[in-house]
Amino acid sequence: MFLILKFGGTSVGSPQRIKDLVSLTVSDAPKIVVLSAMSGTTNALVAISQALYEKNTQSASAQIQQLKENYQKVVQELFSKKESVQKATQLLTHHFDYIQNFTLDVFTPNEEKAILAQGELLSTALFHYYLEEQGVASVLLPALNFMRIDEHEEPDLLFIEKNLKAELAQHPSTKLFITQGYICRNSFGEIDNLKRGGSDYTASLIGAAIQSPEIQIWTDIDGMHNNDPRVVEKTHSISELSFEEAAELAYFGAKILHPTCILPAQKRNVPVRLKNTLQPQAEGTIIANIPAQEGIKAVAAKDGITVLNIKSERMLLAYGFLRAVFEIFERYKTPIDMITTSEVAVSITIDNDKQLPDVLKELKEIAQVEVEKNQTIICVVGLLPKDKAGYGFRVLEALKNIPIRMVSYGGSTHNISVLIDGAYKKEALIALNKHVFHY
Ligand code: ASP
Ligand code: MG
Repeated sequence: MFLILKFGGTSVGSPQRIKDLVSLTVSDAPKIVVLSAMSGTTNALVAISQALYEKNTQSASAQIQQLKENYQKVVQELFSKKESVQKATQLLTHHFDYIQNFTLDVFTPNEEKAILAQGELLSTALFHYYLEEQGVASVLLPALNFMRIDEHEEPDLLFIEKNLKAELAQHPSTKLFITQGYICRNSFGEIDNLKRGGSDYTASLIGAAIQSPEIQIWTDIDGMHNNDPRVVEKTHSISELSFEEAAELAYFGAKILHPTCILPAQKRNVPVRLKNTLQPQAEGTIIANIPAQEGIKAVAAKDGITVLNIKSERMLLAYGFLRAVFEIFERYKTPIDMITTSEVAVSITIDNDKQLPDVLKELKEIAQVEVEKNQTIICVVGLLPKDKAGYGFRVLEALKNIPIRMVSYGGSTHNISVLIDGAYKKEALIALNKHVFHY
């Protein structure tokens, strides 16, 4: 059975990093390797698309030319044989001519998606050619032939399973497949993607589709940490997490994993291991269907949160009010993160405030609304059973000097979430590190 190994943008971010991947991908175990675009490429393609939306053809062409030159340098450094350089140069010509063609026509989101797909197509083909130059046999598996989302933009796991298995069956003796993360087709068969950072999702979907023994997500840190290493001085990596704990952590800011990525793996019970490219021997973090050990395992923070305090006398002893509130969020496709209620008020946090003006307009027809931006959710994750005393106390005690806006616990026994003003985030994470993890 195939292991799934996913490498992100920085792991393929330079010719040297691409070369370093060979030792990680070549061994006897059969593998499917999922690659992101080289770091910076998707952002560059977004910028090119932006210029095209603005009909700024000159700027788009200049940016395309610049990106192509960057790739020409990569090709020169990566390959040593003349034939490989030639082949890779043809590859660049093909993809960059394709991108350049979009400067001639109307530009819509469909064209943008086709452009965004070029990054992963390039990185995988370059790696495949490099393996070939090194005498390592591999097969390039076109993600656009099997990765698919349905009309609700949800992955179509049955389609993926059927078509992926058919692709694999065409190469029965192959032990190493390379495929593109992030890109897919939609229900119309058009090129689409799994949203920014979606390569993790690809890996999880592939692992789930073929019931792989393990999905490995390779990054530049040694797994999930108990706290944010960019904010606090001392942290440790967590060796084991249950799927539920990992989902909470990924969603609430532990940037190492794409939040929805775990779901397919969890659904089919395929373990996910987070590994460090720079320290391949380290065990990393295993996320699996394991009985979680009681206790607090990690804290994470999610910034840029907006809180809405919604108050109405009509809520008192009435029913239907909350439904009316939630329907407004649903109409504007705005997900809610945290909720707390009292008899006359409800507080709701949102992360995506694109539709906020419309949401507010409608809310104000039924209630008084107060909005505050730049809030942070501090999420404390672990197994925190409802019949055990002390966890809430420990969290709140650690945060005793910080004004607390909202507290939420009970929806799941895997997290206690606290909303604070973003200005206190660092202080809060340091305090939790000290009082909960004793650093
Ligand atoms: N290349 C895509 C992005 O930058 C997908 C990924 O890296 O996971 O968002
Ligand atoms: Mg990326």
